[in-house]
Order: sequence, then structure tokens, then C-alpha cells
Amino acid sequence: MKRIIKDRLPAELQKVLQDVNADVKDMGYRAYLVGGVVRDVLLGNRIEDLDIVVEGDAVEAARIIGGKYGSAVKVHNRFKTATATIGQRWKADFITAREEIYAAPGALPDIRPSSLYNDLFRRDFTINTLAVSLDDYTLIDYFRGLEDIKDRKLRVLHDKSFIDDPTRIFRCLRFETQLRFEIETKTKSLLVEAIDAGFPLLLSIDRLSNEFERLFAANEFGRIFLRMHELGILEQLFDTEYSIDNVCELLKNAPVRGCERKTYIALTLFDSIDSKLLGLILHKYKKYYEQLSCLRRKRQDIWRNHGSEKLDFSELYELFKSVDMAVIKFLMTVEDEAFQKCAKEYCEKVVRFPMHISGEDLKALGFEPGPDLGEMLERAKKLILKNRIEGKDDQIEYLRSMVKGSGEQWDRA
Ligand code: ATP
Repeated sequence: MKRIIKDRLPAELQKVLQDVNADVKDMGYRAYLVGGVVRDVLLGNRIEDLDIVVEGDAVEAARIIGGKYGSAVKVHNRFKTATATIGQRWKADFITAREEIYAAPGALPDIRPSSLYNDLFRRDFTINTLAVSLDDYTLIDYFRGLEDIKDRKLRVLHDKSFIDDPTRIFRCLRFETQLRFEIETKTKSLLVEAIDAGFPLLLSIDRLSNEFERLFAANEFGRIFLRMHELGILEQLFDTEYSIDNVCELLKNAPVRGCERKTYIALTLFDSIDSKLLGLILHKYKKYYEQLSCLRRKRQDIWRNHGSEKLDFSELYELFKSVDMAVIKFLMTVEDEAFQKCAKEYCEKVVRFPMHISGEDLKALGFEPGPDLGEMLERAKKLILKNRIEGKDDQIEYLRSMVKGSGEQWDRA
């Protein structure tokens, strides 16, 4: 097993871990790779971030080791942990081996430094309790995590797990879908009991936001969302009617990654579920929903005045210019065909239209510098777009002719 684990780590990481081990030993401590990273190594999955438990002072270790790599070190005093980048790219959490005491369900725990055993016992599922000694790559498996990984089973470590920390309910569904693991029978009934007793509602808005953010990043959010629906979590949180089929259908079109993905998912939920709590959990995305609503209002006005007549470039620019691309991408999948066409034309033609003029050009044409210049530049751009004047010289020449003209065109731009 030692050989298998070592060989599955990239060579550069092996070297970095060897150096980490030498440094912690000099400090009189011991260090272990733990949690998700060990699970992922055993599953043959890509390794992302590292969790290193230190039997000793992890903050001191992170400062010394991070310092050697020239990394900034971010310390979280409450949990006696610190984050640093080691080697070329490895984001590592250094964790002081600790135990956790839960004063109330849903609240953050109090902690005290403890043994590796207790640190592993505080974890969510057995598959995340494995540790690898950095000294000789020995696998430490106190809770039969290896067997559960082989059987692809999610199992909590004790009966109060979901009650102590209801974020584990969301983590459970995330792992179930992403790893394609099965929730073991007893764990399943503890999960259902915790949900039915309303424990998700005990989480603070911040903690719920964090969990949703992580769910949004999961590659099969639609399936997780459906599971949350089936288990009654959504009904409990949002207390409102929605069509699960519609939401799942829309979620199928979510971009695969990037911030556009998360914004798309958030807009889908905002558009389908009318809930105050949803607004609070997704507060980060509210500005996008405001843009969306504003755009829909503007569009109605335009349609009323124009009918379904084609909009010119300057009108498209005016309609979409203050709207984030992620919102436009969302609208391109949910709105009617006429609107989709407009959005497509804006993205493909207006955004890419070669605009060459600047405030300096306007000054050269005799415009006064000052607060009105920005407004004039905006009008100039719209005139150029309306008349599709391409090429820097032609754009300047066009504006010059406008300056000589009556000024009526400027007013209409
Ligand atoms: P992912 O691949 O989603 O990042 P992960 O297991 O690495 O999975 P993290 O959130 O990075 O997830 O957590 C690292 C480790 O910390 C976990 O493997 C687990 O051992 C522990 N952990 C994280 N959150 C909790 C929690 N709420 N309760 C108990 N243990 C937790």
C-alpha cells in the first residue's frame, strides 16, 4: 500500500512532501496527509488541494514551510489552521490535530488540540478519515475507511454526526453523486431523520451559502438538486411551490465550468423558486438577477414600441451593455426565439464590433474635456454602431462630419 500511494503522487509533490516532513521533524512534530486527498489518491482521482494534519503547532509549521516557498500564509486562529502554497502549485491546509466539541447543533464547534486519532474521529465520513504518514507513507485507517472506499459506501462515524454539523447532509449528497458512492443503510436513516427533524434550517445563512457554492461547482448539480428535492430539503428551506422538472431541465444547459456556470445555476433557481431564504443564501448572485429583471422590463418596452422589428446595433448595445455575459448566456437558453436572436446578434456582432474611438479622439475633434465627455463618447459609439462605420479613419471622419452637422443626430443617439 505504501508503494501504491507514493507512486500515485506526482513526483514534484513527493519531493515537496519530503521537505515538509523534514521541516516538521526538525520542529519536533509529526505530519500526515489526510482526508479527501488520501481518498482521491486511492480512487485514482485527480488531486486538488492538500490537507496536512500536524501533531504539534500547525500554524508555526505553515509559517516556516510556507515562508521557504515564498508563499503568503493565511492563519485561521479559531481552528489553529493555516493555508499556504507549497511547491509550485499546491494549496495546503496545515491543521493542528484537534478534537471538536459541539455546543449546539448547526453552530461551529469549539476545538482543542488533540491526537491524530481524535482529529480523524471528528470527520464526516469514514472515506475521509484515512491518513498517510509523511515519514514513511504508512496508511493509517482507524475507522475502516479503506473498506468503505473499496465498497463505495458513505458511512458517518457516529449517530449524532448530521445533528452536530448539518452541513454534512449537503456534503453527503455531493459525495454520493460526484463519487457515485452509495449511502450505507444506517447512515441513510440518520440522514433522513436529521432532515425530517429540520436540522438544515439550523445552519447560518453563511454556512448554507458556502454549501450551495460548493454544490454549484459539483459537475452534476442537477442530480444533487433532484436528491435534495426527493429528500424534502428544498421544501423545508424554501417553503414554496416550484416545478422540479422545469428546474432540472434548465440545469441540464448549465455551462460546464467557470463563474458563468454558477451564475447560470443561481439564475435558474431565482427564476424558478420564489423564496426569501433563497435570496439570502444566494445574495452574491442577486445583482445578476436584478440585471435580468431590468433587461426583461426594457425588452418589454422595446417590443411594445417596435413590435418584433429587428433592432439595430446601437439599440442592441443599449439593451445589453450593462448586463453581465453570464446573464446573457442564461437568457439565450430560457427566453423566446426573438429574444434569443437579439442576444446572439449582440454577442456575435455588437460585442465584436471594432470600436476605435476614445475620449482623446473626441478632444482632438474639439470636445471640451470634463464630466460630459464620457456621455459624448457613449453617444459617439452608438452613432458608429447604428451606421456600422468600421475602421479608425472612417470612424473619426464620420464623427468629424457629425460635429460639423446640426447636432440633431447626437441628440438622438
Ligand atoms: P472535495 O473533493 O469536495 O474538496 P474533501 O473531502 O477534500 O472533498 P474538503 O471540504 O476540502 O472536502 O474537506 C477536507 C476534509 O476535511 C474532508 O475530507 C473531511 O475529512 C474534513 N471535513 C470537511 N468538512 C467537514 C465537516 N463538515 N465535518 C467533518 N469533517 C469535515
